[in-house]
Amino acid sequence: MPDVTPADLHHILDRQRAAFLHAGPPGLKQRRADLRLLKAEILKRRIDIVRALKTDFGQRSERESAIVELIPLVQSINYMIAHVGCWMKPERRHVSAYFQCGRAWVVRQPVGVVGIIAPWNYPLSLALVPLATAIAAGNRAMLKPSEFTPATSAMIGEIVQAIFPPEQVSVVTGGGEVGAAFSALPFDHILFTGSTAVGKKVAEAAARNLTPVTLELGGKSPVVIEPGFSMRRVADRVAFGKLTNAGQTCIAPDYVLVHENDREAFATAYQAAVKKLHPGGYVASSDYTAILNQHHYERLNGLIRDAEEHGAQVIRMGSDSAASHVLAPVLILNVKPEMAVMQEEIFGPVLPVLTYGNLDEAIAFINARPRPLALYYFGDNRADRDRLLKRTVSGNVTINGTLMHYVQDDLPFGGVGDSGIGAYHGKEGFMALTHARGVYRQGRFNAATLLKPPFGKFTDTITNLLLR
Ligand code: NAD
Repeated sequence: MPDVTPADLHHILDRQRAAFLHAGPPGLKQRRADLRLLKAEILKRRIDIVRALKTDFGQRSERESAIVELIPLVQSINYMIAHVGCWMKPERRHVSAYFQCGRAWVVRQPVGVVGIIAPWNYPLSLALVPLATAIAAGNRAMLKPSEFTPATSAMIGEIVQAIFPPEQVSVVTGGGEVGAAFSALPFDHILFTGSTAVGKKVAEAAARNLTPVTLELGGKSPVVIEPGFSMRRVADRVAFGKLTNAGQTCIAPDYVLVHENDREAFATAYQAAVKKLHPGGYVASSDYTAILNQHHYERLNGLIRDAEEHGAQVIRMGSDSAASHVLAPVLILNVKPEMAVMQEEIFGPVLPVLTYGNLDEAIAFINARPRPLALYYFGDNRADRDRLLKRTVSGNVTINGTLMHYVQDDLPFGGVGDSGIGAYHGKEGFMALTHARGVYRQGRFNAATLLKPPFGKFTDTITNLLLR
């Protein structure tokens, strides 16, 4: 697919907006039919999708692709099909006594045309869940997938072209320049998923048009482990969260905060857990994913080198392949907060371990840094858990596990502060991409209508009544 020009982008948006205004908002039947069409087309191309993902990553587990991209995508479409009717219903609101017998209600209106910008790490689902949300909300959409996953982006283009006319949904391709021109378009809403740095640019461009944004960004998501908790249980679940897609997951556990007395136990259990997940090694494995490209492979090796040079203990858990960008899991002990690995989102299979003496130290460590996209707590001590949750602010939380909050279709998903603005998934996605229009129908008579000229004693009586 050739990259688009800014003039093309404006043309597509104008066509979509004109079509939206001409046809009016789609009804429930239409939205459900469009969602079913999207799901059917995805399932029809299931094998090709998984192959495209493999082509883009060089090495990506086909089964993992089905588990982490296709299942959450299809399940979230199913959820929208089942619930969109309920979300669309006007919601009756309270009318105070002196406005009786009036009626008030809220209608969720589609906003019009939504611009969607997607990243490379889960290039299919992070493009198509936002698209399905836009459709459920009754909108038209323009979608720009990542330039770093050309095979999957082309597949997304084919899926959309096969089922939707361009004035309903259009896919445009290109890199940062196209992204910049795209986010400068006067959309009715922009849903961006990607890095915090680019998210700021998108917010800036959108502000010029007063376009509302939902920004799904990244960050360093901590794991806090309660003293004395079963390290085997923790290690299994942290390893799963860290090694899925080789750590190239926005909500991957980024680093671990463990009590100083448990550090050795955690390190031992983590190595055992990693081995259990990948007994056959990593290079040419059908269960393990490569780092997307040379840039990120070198960046990750740079983080490891920097930690080593500054006195950390680096434990490599297998062989790598520079040629195919396969990086085996790495555990880093004796980590100092100043090290590069603690300065940026890792986005790879590298796990730094830091220690704390008491829970307040762990809380202070988290609060001294940008608000994380996800927070993980392992422990059975309810008081400590509640204290951590009350005293920190982050995106979603999973307790005694990792990643799984993401696939709870009825939970909003989104960050806060540096990790994002707004949320989607479930009802919150529908709300984000619709306008809450309040409607008031005035009754034949109500006390407020008496407050009009000519004013007199009766007006004063009513005014005094309402000022109580
Ligand atoms: P990125 O920000 O580099 O790119 C994301 C998208 O923005 C791409 O389509 C890119 O072409 C486009 N883009 C680039 N420059 C642009 C500009 N100036 N204006 C508008 N668009 C522009 O992110 P990435 O490297 O593709 O993805 C990794 C990042 O995304 C990580 O930080 C990760 O945590 C985050 N992420 C967040 C979520 C989430 O749901 N919160 C999910 C996945 C990834």
